[in-house]
Amino acid sequence: MIVLMQFGATEEQIEGVCEAIRHRGLEPLVLPGDRVAVGIPSAIPAEIRESLEGLLGSLPGVSKVTPVSRPYKLASREWKRESTVVRVKGVEIGPTTLTMMAGPCSIESYEQFRAAAEQVKRAGAQVIRGGAFKPRTSPYAFQGLAEEGLKIMKSIGDEFGLVTISEVMSSDMVPLVAQYVDILQIGARSMQNFPLLIEAGKSGKPVFLKRGPSATIDEFLLAAEYVLNQGNPNVILCERGVLPIDRSYTRNTLDLNAVPVLKEYSHLPVIVDPSHGVGVARYVPALAKAALMVGADGLMVEMHPNPTEAMSDGSQSLTPDGFAQLMDDLTQLTSLLGRKMGG
Ligand code: PEP
Ligand code: MN
Repeated sequence: MIVLMQFGATEEQIEGVCEAIRHRGLEPLVLPGDRVAVGIPSAIPAEIRESLEGLLGSLPGVSKVTPVSRPYKLASREWKRESTVVRVKGVEIGPTTLTMMAGPCSIESYEQFRAAAEQVKRAGAQVIRGGAFKPRTSPYAFQGLAEEGLKIMKSIGDEFGLVTISEVMSSDMVPLVAQYVDILQIGARSMQNFPLLIEAGKSGKPVFLKRGPSATIDEFLLAAEYVLNQGNPNVILCERGVLPIDRSYTRNTLDLNAVPVLKEYSHLPVIVDPSHGVGVARYVPALAKAALMVGADGLMVEMHPNPTEAMSDGSQSLTPDGFAQLMDDLTQLTSLLGRKMGG
């Protein structure tokens, strides 16, 4: 439920609303803005909902009481009308820009990652990606360089002035990863690891939340709600493909429907990852451009200095030249759309 106050409502009137909410054993949340709103994020017992709505509507200074109709609250546009812009080291992730995140699937060595960063920077992207803790289907596959990889990422991110993003797989690892990177990535397989979501929320770092391969929109936004609920407003949603009907041609099915749907029902920025979404490098540029056209606020693209030698996801990684070409095409499209490339 959201209580919208009148323009110029006094502190006393706002406090009166909060007091009435607390009196019913619920916790109010004051949302500043042109007009202050007071929200109740938790579920309101059915037996008091109607009477509370009536009472709040009659209090001095109150303009309107709106029930929030979705299971997620803090992530909903009913709760917050303006689109959220996540700001990280001067990069803005939101609706007026197209933020480009690129880099290899895994950080493999200092030399490999430095070469990737140089190419990512030269092509005009703002964020360098790379996994140090890798969620691999097989325990025998390359698992990442762990802390050593994070050190490489930090030093190269600083050298090139790129914002950094890397995955954290478990709640106990959050402090370690947060020490080295600018944005915490929560992988598709971890979307409903609730202790991890809570710990990432507490870290104070922006959280990049990837949609689980079979997650519904409600499940996805409720996962975001876990982070927001910790008092961390900086959540970035990422559509990265859902389970396909047919795996013989592509790895996943990039759900572009999700982009306008998420933008309508949530105020959070939406990034599309066409690399994992389709899983085949030659199809990535087409889907990257389509994602921009359906309203994505940015893209995450895998690019490797030499994809044939990559230790993970080489077959879906663009070459440096392929990525530079894609950046040129996207730059033209963003200006057609009246948006700005980069943050
Ligand atoms: C990745 O970004 O390399 C990755 C493992 O992604 P996802 O969690 O979407 O599979
Ligand atoms: Mn990958």
